Order: sequence, then C-alpha cells, then structure tokens
Amino acid sequence: MLGLMQDWPLTVDRIIERAARFAEDSEVVSRRCDGTLARTTYAALHDRARQVSAALRAMGIGNGDRVATLSMNSAEHLEAWYGTMGIGAVLHTLNPRLHPDQIAWIANHASDRVLILDAPFVPIVQQVHDRMPVEHYIVISDDGIVPDNSFGAIAYEDWIAGRGTDAAWGGFDENTACGLCYTSGTTGNPKGVLYSHRSNVLHAMMAVTKDALGVGYQDTVMPVVPMFHANAWALAFAAPMMGARMVLPGFGLDGASLYALFDGERVTISAAVPTLWLGLMDYLKAGNLKLPHLQFVAIGGAALPERVLRAFETEYDVRIGHAWGMTEMSPIGTVCRVPRELADGPFDDQLPHKLRQGVPPFSVEIRTVDDKGDEQVWGEGKSGHLQVRGVAVSKGYFGGEGGDILDSEGWFDTGDLAEIDKHGSVKLTDRAKDVIKSGGEWISSIDLENALLSHPDVANAAAIAMPDPKWGERPMMIVQAEPGASPDADGLRAFLDGRIAKWWMPDEFVFVDAIPLGATGKVNKRALRELYVTQAPASN
Ligand code: AMP
Repeated sequence: MLGLMQDWPLTVDRIIERAARFAEDSEVVSRRCDGTLARTTYAALHDRARQVSAALRAMGIGNGDRVATLSMNSAEHLEAWYGTMGIGAVLHTLNPRLHPDQIAWIANHASDRVLILDAPFVPIVQQVHDRMPVEHYIVISDDGIVPDNSFGAIAYEDWIAGRGTDAAWGGFDENTACGLCYTSGTTGNPKGVLYSHRSNVLHAMMAVTKDALGVGYQDTVMPVVPMFHANAWALAFAAPMMGARMVLPGFGLDGASLYALFDGERVTISAAVPTLWLGLMDYLKAGNLKLPHLQFVAIGGAALPERVLRAFETEYDVRIGHAWGMTEMSPIGTVCRVPRELADGPFDDQLPHKLRQGVPPFSVEIRTVDDKGDEQVWGEGKSGHLQVRGVAVSKGYFGGEGGDILDSEGWFDTGDLAEIDKHGSVKLTDRAKDVIKSGGEWISSIDLENALLSHPDVANAAAIAMPDPKWGERPMMIVQAEPGASPDADGLRAFLDGRIAKWWMPDEFVFVDAIPLGATGKVNKRALRELYVTQAPASN
C-alpha cells in the first residue's frame, strides 16, 4: 500500500523561492573586487535570478544545457546559480585555480555553452577561449565594464537588464541534473560529479541540522569555501533554505578582509579549509583581535591541525566542526562529535574526539573494508578502505568517465583509509588515492609527473605529498635521471614553469638511482612515502 501524501518535487528553485517569500529582507552581502560591500536581499536576488533565466532562455539555453561559472562567492554568482538551475539547465562551477589548459579541457568535456566569469578572470579565458566550446561569455564586474578581450564577452548587468522577473521555473523531475563540479579524482583526467535537484535539496536539509552545520534563520552565514568547491559545502543551498543572512567574501580571502566581514557583518557561522584559518589566526594574533559574534566554524577538506582547533575553541570561543567529505558526496560525509559525557568537560578531554573526522549525519552510510574487500568490525582499531553510500553520493561520473564506480552492493570507495570506532566515528589514517592536497586544492600527482617526464633527462618521476604546517601538504618530486644525464632542481623547475599551475611547483626535488616499483611495475608510492615522509599526510 502506498502512502497518501502529495508528490512535491525536491527541486532547488524552491529554496530561493522560499527565501524570497519568508526571508525576503534577509541580506546577502558581497565583497566587490574594489573592496567595497554590495547589499541585496533574497527577494531582490530571486528576481534577478529569474532575469538570468530569461536571459539564458533568450540564448536558447534549456533543460540539460551546461552553463559554466568562473567566479568567486558573490550575490551575482548565486543569482546565476539559481537562474540556471531553475530552468533545468546545469550550473557547472569551474575552478579558477586550475591551469588554463585544464580549465579548457574541462569546459570541453562538459560542453559548456555559456560561461559567466568574474572580470579578474578574463585573462585566463583570453589564453584558451579558442579551445573552448563556449558560445556566450558574460562578465561580472563592479563597474559594468568588460575588460578588453577577443571572445566577445558582454556585461552581466547589460545581459539581464530589462528582462522580466517571471521566467517559469521547475516543472521537471526532481532527479534532473542541476550542478556539475569536476574533481581531479584518483587516476586519469578530472571527473565530473553531477548533482541532482533532489540530492542537493536533501543534502542541504541534512547540512542545516544541529549536529551537522546547524544553520537557522537567525544566523549570518559566510561560506569562505568557494562555491566551486562542492556547492560551498552545501551552504549555497543551506543558508537560503533557512533564510539566514549571507555574507560572500568574493576575492578577499586574506586575514584582514575576512576579519572585517566576521566583525562588521556579525557572522555567526562559517566554513573553510584549514589553511585559510591559519591566515586569519595570524591576523587576529597580530592585532590582538577577537571574534565575538562567530559561533561555529566547519573546517574540512584536509585534516584539522590541532593548533587551529585549540586556538578557535579556547582563545576565541568558537566551536569547531571538523568535517570530512568529498565532491562526490555533495560534499558532507562526517562531522566530529563529542561524546555526551564529555560535553561539559575540559577541552583537553574533548580534543581527541574533535580531531576525528566524526560521524555521518542521517542519509550517509559508512564502512571500512580490508585489502581483500572484507568488511571490518567497528571499534577494533583497524584501518581500512573507507566506503560510503547515501542519498547525495555519486553513482557515476559525468559522461560515464571512470566506468562503474560502485561495488555490487552500491558502495563507493572514497580512496581514503580510515579507522571507525565502536560509535561509528571515523578517523582518517592515510590516503590510498594518489593525489596531493595543498591548501584544500588538489594537485594531480599524475599530471605533475607527466609534465616532468617530458624532460629529456628524466627517466622516471614520482610526486608524493609532504606534510606542511601551512598548506597541509606540498608536493615532493622523486626523480630518476636518464643514464648519463644529471638534471638539477633549478633546471627542472625552469622546465615545469608555465607547464603547470604555479602553486603546483614541487617544493623539493630528490634525485635517486632507481624509483622503487611495485609488483605490477607501477611506482610504489607507499615505499617512497615510508622513505621520505616522516609523518603520514592525513594524520594530525
Ligand atoms: P574534495 O573532493 O576536493 O572535497 O576532496 C575530498 C578529499 O579530501 C577526501 O577524500 C580526503 O582525502 C580529503 N579530506 C576531506 N576532508 C578531510 C578531513 N577532515 N581530514 C582529512 N582529509 C580530508
């Protein structure tokens, strides 16, 4: 027997519609490129999102078409986001920190038809537009002026000006795709994670709960984590869902700019990777400043350093939610939890629990398996391959890349190694996947190695992650020279310059006679890590 309840499609356009009705005057504050603040409300943002929809429709964009953004967090980005999703098109967030060649590759893979970009990113597109499939370029700028370009970009404000605010939204299945975000994944090319309306709505409902990010109407939420990182960790949906005020920091991610917003806008909830908080902490310390309004900060994307946790909780009285997740999980997987009996106890007793990645909220299932694939029992202290299932977990990549990514029981292997305690709390122990995460952003070790392998003096190369106090991890390159050749670090650096994004440059080059190979002839990274890394990258 089926229940007799209404069929109410879970589509994200309803999130901003609700915000415009029930939190119509909640502010959305954005930092503009010139440093000044722009203020709008959900009601106005909703109307402008409908204008975006009208402008897209006028270009012939409709269901399933990809509309890309190359944009930092701002009200315009949010409008473009809802305006695209509302008509059943797919909002594809491109990561401006990637090398322009990678951006072009991804735009082609996604078949992006429209690209909405911030003015400071025009030079990136200028380098690669002749290799992009994009038909229309729209530029968001403070003054409405489009910087010189040869790809026919038009100004965002001109694009939406005079359009009606009544474009039709919704009317499609809740499983319709609405967002696309590429991750560098473990092997091969970047892979597209394709979110659906339903998965994003359910994920946002999970994210706002008390034990996850705990967002309510009275909050002022500042996602420092970019919208191009898995929906700003749900906050681009979760904050409007609750009608919370939003503060969007744009390009101002330095300590001084962030502090000005935390303080001036009375931010209560925020989220970002650990590296970013280190910058803010230095600024606070230098000026002997406090954070009286901030109540909760979600920190994830990389292991939380103890000194960040300690400083926030004991010096600034801000509660930290150490979280783990991944793009493929929309992204929230787990959030740390302190056992009830320690809730009122001293910080030092809570510390080990806060440093764990924590327990999954409802709608995420977890388990670990050993190398043979056998499920492990919780609480035995054994580390295994962390696998997940859930309502907002990927079941495949865009375009079928990577093939079948679930096992026969529907589990997705995260590529992380973890130990789960008897209460179901996860602690990451290492990473099986071969990537380096620096400042919360991926460096593909394969791309780095390939770039170096095209040097005539290099016979073999292996990039591994070195723990770094500021960036979490930095790449170290192990190099085996061609017989008779003797490359040096300066020469290799000069060779890589321009071939890779600047921040991918290995911090160190180590020259060895022979790189150790595993049984299948592949480089044995585990052996290299044991030799050169004194501390496991994912540990605290
Ligand atoms: P992304 O898809 O860019 O969000 O990256 C996801 C990956 O980042 C995970 O699979 C982990 O390897 C790593 N990661 C995320 N959160 C944490 C955390 N709290 N501690 C350690 N590593 C993390």
